[in-house]
Amino acid sequence: MLLAASTNRCYSYPVLSKHLFDCLDSIRDILSSRPRCLAFDIDGTISEIAPTPQQAFVTAACRNSLRALVPYFDVVAAVSGRSADDARAMIAVDGLIYIGNHGLEEWAGGSVLSRPDAEFYKSRIEEVLHELARRSQIAGVLIENKGVTASIHYRRATQPKVARAAILQAIQEVKAAKTLEVFEGKMVVELRPQVKGAKGSALRRLVEFYKLASVIYLGDDVTDVDAFIMLQKLRAARGLSTLAIAVLGFETPPQVLDHAEVTLDGVSEVERFLVWLAKEAAGKDTPTI
Ligand SMILES: [Mg+2]
Repeated sequence: MLLAASTNRCYSYPVLSKHLFDCLDSIRDILSSRPRCLAFDIDGTISEIAPTPQQAFVTAACRNSLRALVPYFDVVAAVSGRSADDARAMIAVDGLIYIGNHGLEEWAGGSVLSRPDAEFYKSRIEEVLHELARRSQIAGVLIENKGVTASIHYRRATQPKVARAAILQAIQEVKAAKTLEVFEGKMVVELRPQVKGAKGSALRRLVEFYKLASVIYLGDDVTDVDAFIMLQKLRAARGLSTLAIAVLGFETPPQVLDHAEVTLDGVSEVERFLVWLAKEAAGKDTPTI
């Protein structure tokens, strides 16, 4: 069932009050504004959260719908915390724009382009991860070097809270880490360069470059809140038609609910929403390519 965001704050699993069914006409209005864009996160949005990033996969239903949607949207973009290369390999749908590392790099024309100011930090990230691995051996913690950012996952730790505290403590003790920003998501600590820009900035660049009139965005974690807020700003400043959709799960952070306009109940409901969206988009327009 498709559901709209509740005003109730809930920190484990939300109580929902209203069906997205009530919002379908609004979404149809958004679809009528061209050029239009569908953008989405990957993990927890079109892919179930898995014990390790390598075990996660995009469901066949989502992939098929994305293929069906590409001809009917002017821009279809994956905006992920994964590297752009990884995001592309995982989704494997032609015609998409793959934005990786929370907006710091983009797969385009056969190669990955990192923002030059972020590129500078690659060696720093490597140095910090090397030092973290040398200093702290925490069972169940997985360190992932993604080039211009890094993820330290503690999902498999037997005591996640203890592991999280140990990771944050170790980061504090590594001198080189002071030149990086520390973020947290679902069972993960992220190290990112001290450069402005995240998923929201990436969305704004898409809007400006493609002169978009409408954007629908789906995401599930704290990093997606940046995109949700940017959509609100673009709507207020430029009259863009936008919709921020939160994909819910047992770990949904409260701020995700606070900034979303509509919620979907997990990846399975995203699958159903994308099928509906593809039918709606195809019914209204001839393909864009
Ligand atoms: Mg996610």
